[in-house]
Amino acid sequence: MIRYKTVEEIQVIKESAQILGKAHAEVAKAIKPGVKTKDLDKIADEYIQDHGGWPSFKNYHGFPTALCISVNEVVVHGFPGDYELKEGDIISVDCGVKFKGFHSDSAYTYPLEGVSEEVLKLLERTRESLYLGIAQAKVGNRIGDVSYAVQSYVEQFGYGVVRELVGHGVGKELHEDPEVPNYGKRGKGPKIAEGMVFAIEPMINMGTKDVSQDKDGWTIRTKDHKPSAHFEHMVAVFKDRTEIVTTHEYIEESYKFKWRSKSR
Ligand code: MG
Ligand code: MG
Repeated sequence: MIRYKTVEEIQVIKESAQILGKAHAEVAKAIKPGVKTKDLDKIADEYIQDHGGWPSFKNYHGFPTALCISVNEVVVHGFPGDYELKEGDIISVDCGVKFKGFHSDSAYTYPLEGVSEEVLKLLERTRESLYLGIAQAKVGNRIGDVSYAVQSYVEQFGYGVVRELVGHGVGKELHEDPEVPNYGKRGKGPKIAEGMVFAIEPMINMGTKDVSQDKDGWTIRTKDHKPSAHFEHMVAVFKDRTEIVTTHEYIEESYKFKWRSKSR
């Protein structure tokens, strides 16, 4: 069941997303070779709680931390830990905030120094696909239009679109209906209507679309161990427009990396 949000509820979600965007930026400032991923988690956890929020992922179905940190071949849901970042890595940071009863959720994948041109392109194109998906998230379209926009863009480069994990509605629950797959057909799926708030989050693999889950019950990695990228925004649908309610602006101010593509 899709829960449609009022304008007032969307306003609270935006407040939640502001804390989230700034928490992401604090993490971004610390990303460099030699840093342990658990130290990044601590930064986000403290920032969120110091600003009146709660890290949505912490204790969510037993997930232990504020961040999901997924390095290189890990697609999503990696645990922060003792791993030390090194040159040539890519690191996806996914985070959620609960504030005044409403969640926000966004993710960003960072290239460290020394990343190959090939991997950089994967990141850039995954990020681009997110904005192509967002452009389709408007009244009159269906979720399949969003899915198709993401899939058709990235598959032309021979990338794999993960099937097992999808975007989702967000509100009082972290994961609500509808599901927002990164693959699908134009004109199919639920109608996009005023009051819907959902996360679009392409998870795109350099090689095969197939993934496996570690014995820890969480960590998802590519079957061929090639790298995977993940970018996520939430949108709110209004009658006459769609707004991106999460922000990567603070991240992109803090992490001085120039994307060549034009999208935000
Ligand atoms: Mg999400
Ligand atoms: Mg997320």
